[in-house]
Amino acid sequence: MAQAQLFEEKEMTAEPEGRRISVLLPLPLAGPLDYTVPDDLKDRLYPGAVVEVPLSGRKTIGVVWAGKAAGKKLPLAKLKPVERIIDVPPFREDLMRFVDWVSAYTLSSQGAVLRMCLSVPAAFQGVPVKRHYVAVADVPEGIRITPARAAVLKVLADGKPRMAPEAASLAGVSDSVVRSLADAGALAALDISVDLPYPQPDMSLEGPKLSDEQTVAAEAIREAVWEGGFKPFLLDGITGSGKTEVYFEGLAEALREKGTQVLVLVPEIALTSQWLERFEARFGVEPIVWHSEIGQAERRRAWRAVASGDARVVVGARSALFLPFRNLAFITVDEEHDPSFKQEEGVLYHARDMAVVRAMLAECPVVLASATPSLETQVNADEGKYTVLKLRERHGVAVLPEMRAVDMRAEPPESGTWLSPVLVREIEENLGAGEQVMLFLNRRGYAPLTLCRTCGHRIECPSCSAWLVEHRFRQELQCHHCGHMEPIPEACPTCDSKESLVACGPGVERLFEEVNHRFPNARTSVMTSDTVQSPSETAKVVKEIAGGHLDIVIGTQIVTKGYHFPNLTLVGVVDADLGLRGGDLRAGERTYQQLVQVAGRAGRAEKPGKVLLQSYEPEHPVVQALLTGDGDAFMAAEKTARAQYHMPPFGKLVGVILSGPDMAEVLEVGRALAKAAPVEHGVDIVGPAPAPMARIRGQHRFRMLLHAKKHVKVQKLVRDWVLSVKPKSGVRIKVDIDPYSFM
Ligand code: ADP
Ligand code: ZN
Ligand code: ZN
Repeated sequence: MAQAQLFEEKEMTAEPEGRRISVLLPLPLAGPLDYTVPDDLKDRLYPGAVVEVPLSGRKTIGVVWAGKAAGKKLPLAKLKPVERIIDVPPFREDLMRFVDWVSAYTLSSQGAVLRMCLSVPAAFQGVPVKRHYVAVADVPEGIRITPARAAVLKVLADGKPRMAPEAASLAGVSDSVVRSLADAGALAALDISVDLPYPQPDMSLEGPKLSDEQTVAAEAIREAVWEGGFKPFLLDGITGSGKTEVYFEGLAEALREKGTQVLVLVPEIALTSQWLERFEARFGVEPIVWHSEIGQAERRRAWRAVASGDARVVVGARSALFLPFRNLAFITVDEEHDPSFKQEEGVLYHARDMAVVRAMLAECPVVLASATPSLETQVNADEGKYTVLKLRERHGVAVLPEMRAVDMRAEPPESGTWLSPVLVREIEENLGAGEQVMLFLNRRGYAPLTLCRTCGHRIECPSCSAWLVEHRFRQELQCHHCGHMEPIPEACPTCDSKESLVACGPGVERLFEEVNHRFPNARTSVMTSDTVQSPSETAKVVKEIAGGHLDIVIGTQIVTKGYHFPNLTLVGVVDADLGLRGGDLRAGERTYQQLVQVAGRAGRAEKPGKVLLQSYEPEHPVVQALLTGDGDAFMAAEKTARAQYHMPPFGKLVGVILSGPDMAEVLEVGRALAKAAPVEHGVDIVGPAPAPMARIRGQHRFRMLLHAKKHVKVQKLVRDWVLSVKPKSGVRIKVDIDPYSFM
């Protein structure tokens, strides 16, 4: 990448006029603001320094930025001085470039992107310390040594710093004895940061002996890491083929060099206890984990350690991309096809795509790993942009499971039940053989719809255009869009009929009811985000399954990712058509990927697995691809279709979402945008039309969609277009480059 250019920029902007400097703040402003450099800081204020500056009467953390400030250049006399430099390592050039890049690509302000890098306020407030005491070499003369004091000195004679309560309790005295010794100069006080350093990975450990095809893939990655420089790989291997073992070798190679850091991005729900245990077995330490659930103290410790370079391995969800790495040497994106890598709030970015950009700017290799690579990644591989590494076999004797469709038209379940007779028989046999069963249904709760038999009323969320989902375990109705909850009413809210409300359709809780009824002796458990709400709860259930304490697991997509259950041999997909209904551009691709993942849980060890797909349309190409195992042909057909219609990645899409509390006002802005729409060859704009989710949290929503040929520079086009319309206050305009959701 243009290193030389970066340094030129730095020199041009760090020195000019000596006293003026631009600082980017984590706020949605048009760009950095100008400040002056006070004399005492002038030798240390270079681009990247994290600083505190005044802004409208408050103090704000920001980063000294290369590049000119936004807007009109104010005279020096009007500028405020930088307050102080925060005691954290400065941002590296590649991170600043990354912020600029993400901002330009997603059309978010630089400040909004920077905010994701500075997401840990506690990291800037200094680290609390705890006072410890150690023995001094020479105890000053004339100190009275009581038996209590002697006991303390004896405890501390080993030279290890201890806090007063610890030393005191070991010596069997009160804390004040320790402190009085220190006051007398017989002990030295030592303030130790509460953030302990992370243990370093043990590079002397070795991975398992790799198979031939694993070795080829691992060698290619190792070589790229050793050489350094940007190099993207697609690691395309069937489920259970050892992709994790292969990219672990890349990590190991990268960590051999002193001070390097590596990042593994995983979908949040794939960050499993099993993955962490494997990591620890391979590297002798736990990795540093980064996701939305970790607590403030741990966040501060991790953020600072990443910035200082002390944190060598970070495994995290998409937001880990914005950590201030000091020396990033290798990135892996596991399950790269996973839809959760797209962030749908705030800055709308795709973490897989941005990981490739991060690697490009950090000049390091990046591995995208998947059993079902996304179409976008496959096209990049076809075009030679990514080097493809293939793993075609499962490790050891394990083979891919046998796949069978159950035609629900020919073999329907009894009314009011959801398991076909064929699947029920298979479950019976499986249980009889002492093996485990997984039933997959990607629907939380008991039933997706509650309907009145008398008047036809459907119970909806008061603030969203969505039905309320019955959660029978918790005895309430819940909106899956805004979280609204209410008790299940006794009578119909419209016609007041009693006992007239019926649950329609199945969710996992309803399936649980059926399974318990049919197999009362089986040990059955439901695993969804409602039943397991923390990593430790998840780990507990996973241990129960792996340890053979459960016979049947019923789960949503949270059971599909990354688990390895040796005794699990039957997977039943309760509704294989679910993801295909009302589908968008990627419905087929996504359903295929998801079902391959689910199927991949069966037969991962010695015992062969079997997968039954219940479908009302088994001739659908997705179901056929799963049955024949010919995913390549399916994806090829998808590619052809997308290419024909210039759909991504053969063309570009940009979603524009308008929302606000007043429907007429939202629509008015939409019409103004339509009127101002650019007329350009290769560009089509449709809408405004009411969004499929026409209301969320009381906000009315309209959508517009820009469709452009591949050569069109959509960012500039959209920026000019959207900025040309003055938004009415109360109406939000959200631009979604490369949309994944069309709701
Ligand atoms: P994937 O990530 O492709 O689904 P994994 O890396 O999870 O596959 O491997 C599946 C299982 O096989 C894991 O339990 C893993 O430890 C084991 N495994 C893979 N390769 C080897 C190997 N070369 N030697 C020993 N065990 C292996
Ligand atoms: Zn009614
Ligand atoms: Zn709602």
